[in-house]
Amino acid sequence: YDIAELRRQDVAHHLPAQADHRLIAEMGGSRIITRAEGCVIHDGDGNAILDGMAGLWCVNVGYGRQELAQAAYDQMLELPYYNTFFKTASPPPIELATKVAGLMGGHLSHVFFNSSGSEANDTIFRLVRHYWKLKGQPSRKIFIGRWNGYHGSTVAGVSLGGMKAMHAQGDLPIPGIEHVMQPYLFGDAFGEDPARFAARAAQAIEDRILQVGPENVAAFIGEPVQGAGGVIIPPDGYWPAVEAICRKYGILLICDEVICGFGRLGQWFGHQHYGVKPDLIAMAKGLSSGYLPISAVGVADHIVAELREKGGDFVHGYTYSGHPTCAAVAIRNLEIMEREKLVERTREDTGPYLAKAFADRLAGHPLVGEARSLGLLGAVEIVAEKGTNRRFGGEEGKAGPVVRDLCIKNGLMVRGIRDTIVCCPPLIISHAQIDELVDILKRSLDEAMPILKA
Ligand code: PLP
Repeated sequence: YDIAELRRQDVAHHLPAQADHRLIAEMGGSRIITRAEGCVIHDGDGNAILDGMAGLWCVNVGYGRQELAQAAYDQMLELPYYNTFFKTASPPPIELATKVAGLMGGHLSHVFFNSSGSEANDTIFRLVRHYWKLKGQPSRKIFIGRWNGYHGSTVAGVSLGGMKAMHAQGDLPIPGIEHVMQPYLFGDAFGEDPARFAARAAQAIEDRILQVGPENVAAFIGEPVQGAGGVIIPPDGYWPAVEAICRKYGILLICDEVICGFGRLGQWFGHQHYGVKPDLIAMAKGLSSGYLPISAVGVADHIVAELREKGGDFVHGYTYSGHPTCAAVAIRNLEIMEREKLVERTREDTGPYLAKAFADRLAGHPLVGEARSLGLLGAVEIVAEKGTNRRFGGEEGKAGPVVRDLCIKNGLMVRGIRDTIVCCPPLIISHAQIDELVDILKRSLDEAMPILKA
């Protein structure tokens, strides 16, 4: 490729999905990523960059896996595509469903495939309302999500999510969706006792249920750890309290595992870390490590039993539901994860190693308000005054882009979410690469200091 020409064309014809048109134009076009291996991506200008984001929170097994290419190749020759509409199926999605059901454990043994995380949440939205109708409780329509939660870019996804900037575009949320506070101790309740805050954040859900009437509430939805919201790790006690509230009022509990699933928090699914049992889960990204688009909804037995008993055909499905090639790649991806023990490694080795490196080498930095992580999901809060959560310029969002851009210049891809730098490296990351990630973060913070203090 002629990289300069690609960048020039990019400036002229931005992908409509890209948010930062002006910034990209100022850069003279997007950074063109041309190839990758392991945990390292390469751009067209010859830079090698440590991928601290696993693509977009998804390349769990790292880049360049020949086995995954082979799985796709073999399946494409055998049967590249077939649908699930004519009372038909193909072998890979059936095998994958059995495999995923085994990982979800016990009560969740049914799986519905889609292509993206957003579609998984859209599927859940309709399935849940359909379920309550079949159950003779059609008033149960309301979903409760959280401010700053992210559940995708489709209409239901944006609505369930709590991103105000997304709501503003397209007049969302759709009716019947409520949002409550997020469990963001550092940002929203700095200095509060964590256990007290956990109880207070869960109580906000119960208060809302009582306000709108429990008989009208269908489900609560949340990411075990909010990813796109800024890697918000809830204090201990939050999730069990949320689960207890859902049970008390007979409300379904939905965990959006699109980021937390497939080993990210050191368990196959994030809810397993918190010891709760959701009724439905959305999963995507790590299911295929992003090599091909595939997502799934895990559904509890009691919901499926209701559908079957009442003869409720769920009239739903996508052209690519149960796509054989995507499923074949996902199966092989999960085999790699099992063979290389990536979940256990994240829980017992690399996750604690990252947490220690954050504590030892970042937490004391003058710009760092908090450096937190769980498994291989981490966040660094940039503050103007050590020991507080005060932001530069008194407003969130000024420091994040500065530090993020310095990190990228220094060879580390991270994301800045307001003034929180987040990281989510491939689960194959080595100790040496974790050291490099932390070194670059530290160096970039050092370099940001005179810029931010000016
Ligand atoms: N849910 C969560 C928690 C996510 O992080 C994302 C994407 O980042 C989605 C849903 C949407 O997934 P997709 O982008 O595949 O539609």
